[in-house]
Amino acid sequence: MGADAKFKRILLKLSGDSFSPSGERGISMDEVVHISGQVHEAQRLGCQIAVVIGGGNILRGSQFTAENSVVHEATAHYMGMLATVINGLALQDALEACGCDTRLMSAIKMDGVCEPYIRRRAQRHLEKGRIVILGAGTGGPFVTTDTAAALRSMELSVDILMKATRVDGVYSEDPEKNPHAVLYTELEYTEVIEQGLRVMDSTAISHCMEHDMPIMVFNFRKDGNILRAVRGERVGTIITTKKVPPRDN
Ligand code: UDP
Repeated sequence: MGADAKFKRILLKLSGDSFSPSGERGISMDEVVHISGQVHEAQRLGCQIAVVIGGGNILRGSQFTAENSVVHEATAHYMGMLATVINGLALQDALEACGCDTRLMSAIKMDGVCEPYIRRRAQRHLEKGRIVILGAGTGGPFVTTDTAAALRSMELSVDILMKATRVDGVYSEDPEKNPHAVLYTELEYTEVIEQGLRVMDSTAISHCMEHDMPIMVFNFRKDGNILRAVRGERVGTIITTKKVPPRDN
């Protein structure tokens, strides 16, 4: 491991929105290449990186069923999962164009497109310094890729789940709507759940809380932030179970 990396292994959650310019949908390869460069920079510190990629820039199951009642909700979620694989393919080529060695693994078997997700194989790829892109979420409908990110973080024994967002971290309110919203630097899982703070879906937070998996929420649009986060510098918001220090007797 490079001397500069604080974390040996991380899971980076990228939402599909990070692949399109603000307010737009679809894939902009300029955005994908830009984010890939940031990931590559962080990996060169020696950090092992698994990426869970979302699909919201193409399709979100819940939104799609709300607009198209003909499609069963489960079908729409499967469509969303396939969207994440499309993003995964774009990310894979962009990362490889930056010089990274990568593997795309899908929770839904897709021979000819990518490898099936097998935990031990994913671990092996990480040990060999390959960036592992995890597509198709959990492989099951009615959840989001945030939940997939939480579950894969535990399975792959990462040191921290890093959630890249468009804003600087977790705020008291939506900072894009209220400019006076307060940015938190540290939070406990229970505070996130009780205050209904918009970080990740509540299932994902609960999984992380149960397994003591720290979450860092930070702005990927600020150049160098992924690198800084991997170095252990303070960026964004960190969510943990704050341990009460032992009392001196
Ligand atoms: N999805 C799913 N199961 C999973 C992960 C994702 O059914 O384990 C579907 C769900 O419909 C979701 C869509 O895939 O809305 C795209 O993922 P997500 O909304 O999490 O993408 P992001 O918001 O991160 O871009």
